[in-house]
Amino acid sequence: MDLGNKTIIITGASSGIGAAAAILCASQGANLVLGARRHNELQLIVDQITQSNGSATCLAGDVTDEAYAAALVALAESTFGGLDGAFNNAGTVGAMGAVPEMESTNWRTVIDTNLTSAFFAAKAQIPALVARGGGSIVYTSSFVGFSNGGMPGMGAYAASKAGMIGLVQSLASDHASDGIRVNALLPGGTVTPSGGEGNPAALEFIANLHPMKRMANSAEIAEAALFLLSGRSSFMTGTPMTVDGGMSVRLL
Ligand code: NAP
Repeated sequence: MDLGNKTIIITGASSGIGAAAAILCASQGANLVLGARRHNELQLIVDQITQSNGSATCLAGDVTDEAYAAALVALAESTFGGLDGAFNNAGTVGAMGAVPEMESTNWRTVIDTNLTSAFFAAKAQIPALVARGGGSIVYTSSFVGFSNGGMPGMGAYAASKAGMIGLVQSLASDHASDGIRVNALLPGGTVTPSGGEGNPAALEFIANLHPMKRMANSAEIAEAALFLLSGRSSFMTGTPMTVDGGMSVRLL
């Protein structure tokens, strides 16, 4: 899974899946630009990578801000000389609840954080990848945007993650001729701060929805992100790739 001399942006890198992906991609030789809102948490990951002779920098910001997407690309270009890929992974569950009771502010926050940010990322990243002659973009969608799997109260989240798959397929079709691959990674339930960590009842409920009767850990999902970012997935584009402990089998 060699990412030697490849420069990759990873958002949502301050915890969970994004932090695990940063550490894994750095171990495979990537130069990393890490993003999320919490600067101190990002800096801790950068320090961990550089202490292991890896290469990383970070910029704190909010993915709902179009200028932040452009700033991450500019940082990749000024620090490492260009951009080869991105793992657009930042996301929020928002407030869970039935749609009739859902505040429209919650709907907008979830759609802005998960879906509009994906559009901003593509706008900023694709010209940089074209200038480089191609690359790989990976978005973190979710099993909830594909099969629901029995998770209650996820209307805004499911809509945002399903919308992301449509965007991915459109980008993949439009930019295959530029040498750019675009795929969606659909994790199953994963033990992270926004995946129920610290709430044993929630973890047990989510684990039992999976045919494998357990949740993933962040490192297992990071392995799939690495595969999609690397040349090992060279004939994959426009794919919603489930890594979900069999959750999607519930559809069959
Ligand atoms: P997490 O540890 O809570 O990570 C979420 C990340 O997104 C954090 O780094 C957070 O950083 C960042 N983030 C959230 N809102 C942001 C904003 N407005 N601007 C910038 N960064 C923002 O949870 P996770 O499970 O690893 O989540 C990563 C991705 O996986 C998300 O897209 C999530 O929807 C998806 N996912 C998770 C599961 C699961 O069961 N855990 C399953 C399927 C898909 P800051 O707070 O520092 O900004």
